Amino acid sequence: MTLFEKIVARQIPADIVYEDDRTLAFRDIAPQAPVHLLVIPKRPIRSLAAAQDEDTELMGHLLGVCRKVAAEEGLGAGYRVVTNIGEDGGQSVDHLHFHVLGKRRMTWPPG
Ligand code: 5GP
Repeated sequence: MTLFEKIVARQIPADIVYEDDRTLAFRDIAPQAPVHLLVIPKRPIRSLAAAQDEDTELMGHLLGVCRKVAAEEGLGAGYRVVTNIGEDGGQSVDHLHFHVLGKRRMTWPPG
């Protein structure tokens, strides 16, 4: 079971801000911005690279959830959605997740 599946199963506590039948959104335990949420599919897809063509609708749904939680957090001035993939991408939890970061000015390029 991935760490995030344990959060879905309520085996590990998390500050959950949104849930539906397919997705969960919760606050990152080590926030990198004043607002830092993680949006995940409940089903454990390893990363974006492991998603299948059949998951395309789910991927769109996850981005829609990113948009909704960002609006609920008042990120009207802008925000960033990021997904890290694999070792070079800096992924540390092998369960697909979109970071939603906001309430500070982001820099580019990322490190
Ligand atoms: P990645 O590095 O894989 O892109 O992102 C994983 C994220 O999960 C990190 O930002 C990290 O802070 C967060 N994280 C790791 N363990 C936990 C946890 O137990 N609870 C929560 N809420 N976030 C976690």
